[in-house]
Amino acid sequence: MSVLVKQRCRIHGQREAVARCPECEKFFCRECVTEHEGRVICQSCLSELLKPEVKERSPIWGRLLGLVGAAGGFLLAWWVFYMIGRTLLSIPSEFHDGSFLNR
Ligand SMILES: [Zn+2]
Ligand SMILES: [Zn+2]
Repeated sequence: MSVLVKQRCRIHGQREAVARCPECEKFFCRECVTEHEGRVICQSCLSELLKPEVKERSPIWGRLLGLVGAAGGFLLAWWVFYMIGRTLLSIPSEFHDGSFLNR
């Protein structure tokens, strides 16, 4: 006669386990497991499975750097065009003042 040793839930020590997670091979009670794509797995493994595989280390900083770069480029372009515009505006007036009026 083999005594069936009943497994307890990994999280709830007082509860009887009803399922074994195929991912981490630990026993869990009914509340701790979820059916996912035909398999009954535990919550922690489910959250691991549902995580996006590509992990960005610092997406916020990357986005900020991109924004700062774009803003800096825009400001530089604006400044260059502003200076060119000022130069173009100042040249004809000096040209008119110097040559046409004194002629
Ligand atoms: Zn698991
Ligand atoms: Zn449990």
